[in-house]
Amino acid sequence: MTQPELDAPDLPAGIRRFTMPMPPPLAHVHVWLIETGGGWAMFDTGFPTPEGEALLEREISPLLTDGRRLEAAFISHYHPDHTAFAGRLQRAFGCDVYVHRADWQRMQMMSRMDPQMARSRFSSGWAAQLDSDGADAAEEQPDSMFARMRAAREGMDLPLPEPELVEGGEIIKVGGREFEMIWTPGHTDGHLCVLDRGEQLLFTGDHLLARITPHIGMWPEDARSPLPQFEQSLGLVAELNPSLALPAHERVIEHPAERAGEILEHHQERRQRILEAVAGGDGSIREVAIAVFPKRAGDRMQLAMAMSETVAHLEALVEEGDLRRDGDAADRSYAPR
Ligand SMILES: [Zn+2]
Repeated sequence: MTQPELDAPDLPAGIRRFTMPMPPPLAHVHVWLIETGGGWAMFDTGFPTPEGEALLEREISPLLTDGRRLEAAFISHYHPDHTAFAGRLQRAFGCDVYVHRADWQRMQMMSRMDPQMARSRFSSGWAAQLDSDGADAAEEQPDSMFARMRAAREGMDLPLPEPELVEGGEIIKVGGREFEMIWTPGHTDGHLCVLDRGEQLLFTGDHLLARITPHIGMWPEDARSPLPQFEQSLGLVAELNPSLALPAHERVIEHPAERAGEILEHHQERRQRILEAVAGGDGSIREVAIAVFPKRAGDRMQLAMAMSETVAHLEALVEEGDLRRDGDAADRSYAPR
């Protein structure tokens, strides 16, 4: 791949990256390999496609010569582009697999994710506003992100790993390296970054990305906005001030603390836009989402994601005392306080 956003110039010694295909819009995900002395550790385990499977084999086999093993695999979070081959790798190489307790629960749910579950997430509670124009909520679009993901993994044998559960703060020695588990909730409840303590390299998964920002959203079943926690997790990265951030998508981040600051600013600006949209309209989630994300209005899945992000900001603004919530489910709306 030659897109400039994928550039990884001058990776530190002993660090390797390869890139698997996945469905658009992201279309790629990185897998990181870290030389530990006696073998290798891995950060994230890719998205399931036959091409990804072949790539994994091609990249890993040459590294495991002269008694060197794959010793550990760390999982940033439960989404399928980060977890696919964890169970397979564990069966093949006996590596320890580390995942945060909260995301392990989700990973188990995700492996059972059927179309019915996805449909109810997109039509219950406030998500009923998604179809306020009378569209049929029960019909999953064949090109939705979930449908594409399911199609991509069809027919592949993807066992779950038997993981070591962590909660953040643990220091795990693998060969000559020390990896510190950094709990960074926000994008998911159990998102983990991993710090290589010797070189101060931070493997960031989806928490910190160079150009885009991760989806920070709420669904009808969630009680609290993850946005304040996400912002705290960004503050944590700024405080750690790692020498380099190695994310799961796009290019390497040479100034992680600065990038964390930019994303914090981005969410403050979004709060302002949302306050303006609430003041200028009926305050329904759907209308605010369309005002803030006009390009996403035409596609049901895109609009659902936009509404999910919008609710996370609206609820944070309620918590912070700037907005008031009225009504519930399909009637839910927000107003200035
Ligand atoms: Zn993700």
